[in-house]
Order: sequence, then C-alpha cells, then structure tokens
Amino acid sequence: MIKKYRYVLKLVDPFGISRITRTEEVRIYIQLDGGWGEAAPVSYYGEDEFTVHEALEALEKADLGDLDLVEQIMDHAETVIVKNRAAKAALNMALYDRFSKNLGLPLWKFFGRAPTKPLVTSFTIGIDSLDVMLEKTDRAANYDILKIKLGRDVEHDIAVMREIRKRVGEKKILRVDANAGWTLDEARRIIPVLADLGVEYIEQPLPMGAIEELRRLKKECPLPIFLDEDIHTSRDIPPVVGAADGINIKLMKSGGLTEARRMVATARACGLQIMLGCMIESSLGITAAAHLAPSVDHIDLDAHLLIANDPFVGVETKPSGELILPTEPGLGVRVQENAFRQFEQLT
Ligand code: MG
Repeated sequence: MIKKYRYVLKLVDPFGISRITRTEEVRIYIQLDGGWGEAAPVSYYGEDEFTVHEALEALEKADLGDLDLVEQIMDHAETVIVKNRAAKAALNMALYDRFSKNLGLPLWKFFGRAPTKPLVTSFTIGIDSLDVMLEKTDRAANYDILKIKLGRDVEHDIAVMREIRKRVGEKKILRVDANAGWTLDEARRIIPVLADLGVEYIEQPLPMGAIEELRRLKKECPLPIFLDEDIHTSRDIPPVVGAADGINIKLMKSGGLTEARRMVATARACGLQIMLGCMIESSLGITAAAHLAPSVDHIDLDAHLLIANDPFVGVETKPSGELILPTEPGLGVRVQENAFRQFEQLT
C-alpha cells in the first residue's frame, strides 16, 4: 500500500532559470512500508502532480512483490509506466529508505562509500535583474561555492558575472548554469569572459540535442562543460563522450538512486566527471541524493535551502554549504509534525 500526500513547497525567493521563474511547487510524498519518497514532477518533461498520481496508482496496481528486491522492482516499474521519472524516483527512494532502515545502516554505507573530503554543495543564485542577483549574492556570502543561473540574454549574463566576481572577490568558487540558453555564437562570446573571471565550469551551455555544436565548442572551450538537460539516464552518457567533460545526475531525471548509481558507473567508464544535482526538492529528495555524494566530483544539492516550509529534516547543512551525511539507519529523514498536518492525503 503506497500512501500518497500532496504538499505545496513555498520558495524563500522567486527562483528563475533561463526558461521560467517560480514561487511555489507542488510535491507528492509517499510512504511505503516505513519508507519515505518524494516526487518533484518536472514540467519540462511533461510531468505534473496528476501524472505522478496516475503513475503511482499504476505502480500500486502492479504487484511489486518482495520489497527488498529494489533493482528488480525498478525493472518491473519500467514495464508498468513509461517515463514518469519523478514517480519512479519517489518509489525508489521509499524502497531504499525502508531497506536500509531494516538493514540498520545509513544508505551511504550500504552503497559502500564514505566521504573522503568535505561534501560541499554550491548555492544557486537564480536569474533576475542585476540588482536582485547582486543582493542575493550578498545574502549568500557564507557559502563557499556559488552557482549562477544565466542564459536569458548573453549581454546581461556578462554584466552579471563581472559584477558578481567584483562583489565576492577572487577566491570564491563560481560555477555557471546556462540551462540550454545560449546559441553556439553566444557561448563562444561569453565563455572566454567567464574563463577570465575564474569560473570553475559551465553547465549545459547549448540547447538540448546540439551534440555536434558541443563537440565544436569543447575543442576551443577553456572551461569544463557539464551536461544536464541532455542527460537523463545511463544510456544518454556514451553518446556525449568527446562533447563534454562531465554530466549532471539528478534523481528526478534518472528515476531514482538505482539508475543514478548506474549513471555513476557509466560516466566513470566513459572517463567523464560527475556532478550531483537536484530539482526544487525538500530535505527528503536532497538527503536521498546526498547518500550518493561520496561517489561524485561536484555537489549541487541546495534546493532545500531555497524552501521556506521544508516538511522534512534530513542531511545537515553547515553555513558554508558543507553537507553532513546522516548516521541513522535509512535515508535519515523525518517529517516535521506541523508540516505533516498540512499534508493532503490522496486517495
Ligand atoms: Mg542545470
């Protein structure tokens, strides 16, 4: 029996990327035999709360069998519902939470890797007017790494990055995410400027599917290129070898941790670097992903820091952005009582 709940996440600030600006997000939470899961439907992939609900109902009708057999259940889920990765991610999270609780281990231990260096997440500055972005940058002064959203207008992007670098000084690590917002010519124009400003890497500079242009860009690009919108599951990885330096894994794209771990293995086999990202997710989804953080190169798990009414408590986040993995069995998340009272149970 999968218990399903609807909850509206309110964002601290309006959050803008190249395509859209949002102030709140509907999330579906599930409980399955003691395990918790979160679905953050992605409108870009045609998902919303209703598609998630339908997919979960279809999964419920299918016989999932022995709930310990997580990989087998996920194979079965692939045959029951097509795509619907947010719903699959919620199912997978709940199965792993339940399984590792029963095992008596935090999930990262079952996965077999402890952090060998501090797990520091970037903190994201959404797209806005120059003044608002600078004000957000000032408020984020405590974070060691900032990720700046660009990609609506290349002239604005250049002005923003020059001002932000002035504001934060030389030492702060800056990353950039264009969210598929530049043409090849625009990327060629801005990237040398970003390199001069000491940006660490750029994420998804070109539109989805522009792999040949990416190959050309990569040959002349002084900065590492990571792909996000172009990469959903492990099968998307081999075709981008030579077109990028790394990939961005997110549970809501992969359909959960099982496939995310396959992506880690595939990226390593292909000689690519890995960043671990998120959609707008509460501490539940963020903590689930954090259990994989010891296996990746760069961490971008900050969405819980952008939410004003996070219903879960999970991974501890220090003011610098350092994540401290839970030590209790399972995912190590618990629902906040006052938020749980606002959960709308779905039937
Ligand atoms: Mg991205």
